[in-house]
Amino acid sequence: MRRKIVVGNWKMNNTVAESETLAQDVLAALGEGFSGCEVGIAPTYLALEATERIIEGSEVQLVAQNCHYENDGAYTGEVSARMINAVGCSYVIIGHSERRQYFGETNATVNLRVKKALTEGLKVILCVGETLEERETGVTESVVTSQVTEGLAGILDIGAIVIAYEPVWAIGTGKTASSAQAEEVHLLIRTTITELYGEPAASQLRIQYGGSVKPSNAVELFAMPNIDGGLIGGASLNAADFAAIVKAAS
Ligand code: PEP
Repeated sequence: MRRKIVVGNWKMNNTVAESETLAQDVLAALGEGFSGCEVGIAPTYLALEATERIIEGSEVQLVAQNCHYENDGAYTGEVSARMINAVGCSYVIIGHSERRQYFGETNATVNLRVKKALTEGLKVILCVGETLEERETGVTESVVTSQVTEGLAGILDIGAIVIAYEPVWAIGTGKTASSAQAEEVHLLIRTTITELYGEPAASQLRIQYGGSVKPSNAVELFAMPNIDGGLIGGASLNAADFAAIVKAAS
């Protein structure tokens, strides 16, 4: 039985003080009711340390939105996996479609980041997903398979990996993939992982869905056999909505 995992990706929202308030609100809204589910929140780099002070001692885990693939050096504006680990992050999100779309991330740079994060002892949420054009031209399967295969190239043990399937056309658009559409791609990902790593590893891998998850659609999505939780953008900025999504996964 895979334990579901729900992570709130706060993206470029909230000052440090606002992040502290939201983290407090999330803890209060969650209460005791999420023991069946792993939960994380991903504030901006700037607010990681302050957020960690709020959630320390709770079961909510600190997650970073990205990391660089070098430990240190002349990479202005970047933050390394080592630094993220040092402030208390358990997980790092890598390869989010906004990173791929706006910041030139490729499967090759995603792979470098995944490797470095694992080396530094972080767990990784590897994001994959097709654009609308790719879905409409019928290449979803090859795009997602390449993202998974190339993103994990050279990685022998996937015990510390979670994959997030996030169709780009569903992120922040209010359009959710139907539970059947999402399940089809989740099954494809699990089959790809079976081919790469064998059945035992594939059956343990958690695959989150992301793309306009809300309290109103979470129950149906999380009921699908290969959907093991969610990566939540917009709805994670509202503590009550995020808590309701966590409860749907619990
Ligand atoms: C995301 O950015 O990871 C995401 C899923 O966003 P939203 O829930 O807003 O679609």
